Amino acid sequence: MSPNRLRSVSDTDQLQEEAELEETESERPLDPEVAARREAALAHVRKFGDPVLKTRARPIERFDDALRDEVQRMGLLMDDALGIGLAATQVGVLHRLLVYRVQPDAPLAALANPVIEWSSKEEEIAEEGCLSLPMVHVDVERPVHVRVSAQDEFGEPILIEASGLEARVIQHEFDHLEGVLILDRTSRDQRKQAMRALREWQEQQHSA
Ligand code: ZN
Repeated sequence: MSPNRLRSVSDTDQLQEEAELEETESERPLDPEVAARREAALAHVRKFGDPVLKTRARPIERFDDALRDEVQRMGLLMDDALGIGLAATQVGVLHRLLVYRVQPDAPLAALANPVIEWSSKEEEIAEEGCLSLPMVHVDVERPVHVRVSAQDEFGEPILIEASGLEARVIQHEFDHLEGVLILDRTSRDQRKQAMRALREWQEQQHSA
């Protein structure tokens, strides 16, 4: 998930912080080195139109060094891409693994085989971006609180209670493991606009 234009119609502190982050980013161009690193990272992320993004990922059965390497690689890629979440699907690996980091200083969180055990009736609309959908930002309504069971990269069971931005990122990445994109979760109008932006982006790629 890409944070740069995340904003909320509600007033939670976390999302307000993100809204400020967005403004700083859009007003001030990225440092050229950071921008180049972001471009290089994004080249490894599967984009709209790739059938892998519509495919359901398989459960993880082996918790070995290869899996732990993959978690590290995904974390680095996510950081370089300036994202706050990434699903294995987005790098073309169809198994149920996602990573995220909502607070810049927090350790990388990795969830294997996540299951959303419970989600709140209370929902909230916020604008989301996606590293797989260049130039797209759409409003998505999601439960504010979730409880998620999963395994860590060693296969140990973990239980996470998340709210606000963390809950939103987990649900966004979980959707990727199901082959679901934010385009599938927004209004008809916003979906139409997003499709137009994506077609423009695809044309630019072909003519470049
Ligand atoms: Zn995404």
